[in-house]
Amino acid sequence: MIRLALMGAPASGKGTQAYHIVQKYGIPHISTGDILRAEIAKESEVGKEVQAVIASGALVSDDLMIKIIENRLIEPDCKKGFILDGFPRTIVQAEKLAQLVTLDKVIYINTPDEVILSRITAREICPDCGVSYNKTLLPSIEKGICDHCHVPLIQRPDDTREAGIARLKTFHAQSSPLVDYYAEKGKLAEVDGTFDVEVVKEKIDKVLDM
Ligand code: AMP
Repeated sequence: MIRLALMGAPASGKGTQAYHIVQKYGIPHISTGDILRAEIAKESEVGKEVQAVIASGALVSDDLMIKIIENRLIEPDCKKGFILDGFPRTIVQAEKLAQLVTLDKVIYINTPDEVILSRITAREICPDCGVSYNKTLLPSIEKGICDHCHVPLIQRPDDTREAGIARLKTFHAQSSPLVDYYAEKGKLAEVDGTFDVEVVKEKIDKVLDM
C-alpha cells in the first residue's frame, strides 16, 4: 500500500511520471485535471461550472475539488493506495486531505518557468486516456496519434502561452506554499524536473525505493 501525491507546476511532467508510477505499483492514478476534463467532455453540470475557470488558468473552488476527491478516494481500487496528480493544490485542500488519508510521500517536480512555458505550447494529450506527449521532446510513435488508444491527439485549450502564464502565476501564488507545508511534515521529496523524462523517472524511483 502506497499513498502518493505528485506536485509541480503545469507541464512539469506530473502526468507522465504518474504513468510510470502506476505501472510500477499497480495503484490508481487520480488526476483531478483529467476528472474535470471528463466532466467538460460529458457536458455535465460540473463540467459547465468549471470550463471557463480552467480556460482562464485559475483554480476551481476548494469545495468542489474536495467533494470530487472524497468521492474518488472511497472507490474500492484506492484500498491498495493511489497516486494523486494535481491534488492538493492549496493549503485548504491539503488540510482536508489530511483528515481523509495519510500520504506516504509528496513528490515535487521542480521545473523553472521558462522550461514550463516551452513545454506547454508543445504539449498534446490523448482525449481518451489523458496521456501527454511533447511534439519535440516526447512525440507519439505515429504523429498526432495516441500510442495507447490510437485516437487523434488534441491540444488542451489551456495549453496556450497566455493561459500558461496565468497557470504559472496561480501555481506560485496558491500551490507553491504546499512545498514548505509538506517539507515541515517530513513528507516532501523534491526532484529536478528540468531533465529528460527517463532521468526524472530514475530520480523518482530512487526516492520511492528509499
Ligand atoms: P491539470 O490537468 O492538473 O493541469 O489541471 C487543469 C486545470 O484544472 C487547472 O488549471 C485547474 O483550473 C483545475 N484543477 C485541477 N486540479 C485542481 C485542484 N486540485 N484544485 C483546483 N483546481 C484544479
